[in-house]
Amino acid sequence: MQKRTESIVISNRQFNEADLIVTLLTKDHGLIDVFAKSPRKVGSRFGSSLEPLTYSKVAFIGKQQSHLPRLIQSDIIKPFSKLREEFNLFMALSEALELTKKILPQGVPQRGPFQLLLNMLISLEEGKDLKKQIIYYKIKLLKFAGFAPGLERCIRCSSPTNRFSLSEGTLLCSKCSPSSEHLIIENSIKNLYNFMLRIRPSVLDRLKITEDTLKGLERVINSHINYNIIDNKLNTHQFIASTRGVRV
Ligand SMILES: [Zn+2]
Repeated sequence: MQKRTESIVISNRQFNEADLIVTLLTKDHGLIDVFAKSPRKVGSRFGSSLEPLTYSKVAFIGKQQSHLPRLIQSDIIKPFSKLREEFNLFMALSEALELTKKILPQGVPQRGPFQLLLNMLISLEEGKDLKKQIIYYKIKLLKFAGFAPGLERCIRCSSPTNRFSLSEGTLLCSKCSPSSEHLIIENSIKNLYNFMLRIRPSVLDRLKITEDTLKGLERVINSHINYNIIDNKLNTHQFIASTRGVRV
């Protein structure tokens, strides 16, 4: 059965000699892998539409459960080629795309992440602030995937606390978890995080954030991602060692 939807290319990898397996974040089917036959041949119908970040109208056939669905059409709506040309921008986006691929389940229809990614790419192409866009994307993506850290109160006794347990991914006061590895998170960072969780992207543009608060939030979110999702514990431990007892 043929399916049509809109999609953004997350990544592609070579398969056999001339074929590609392409990971797409789609509007109607969530994250999926599709098989693309000989996309690099001269005259291929896919042209440059399988480059990461490309936003296209696609059609594919086949069941996701058995063999990979086969891509039969991909017409570019927006190439976002400008975002691939600037090194820092593309590195930051590559990390965000990698997280997207790791954290979202395959083939589970969910429109939120697709819209979130599309909004970010449009905003970045318009020249909006990269750091603000990326941290907002990560926070919302964590929420969609059910991995958003809890930064309100102690999860066990509800008392106010600034101790964030990396292994639990939430705030835990000293009475409830005296020995856990933790970061101390300033109130301004907690407030910014909880605000970002709630707002729409349009509000983000008007939001004034100090450099220190934004940096602090980035460190908390990236530590949480590394510790719990990427499993890059070496870097996380180095980070804890360097910040233990120091306010982030
Ligand atoms: Zn507690």
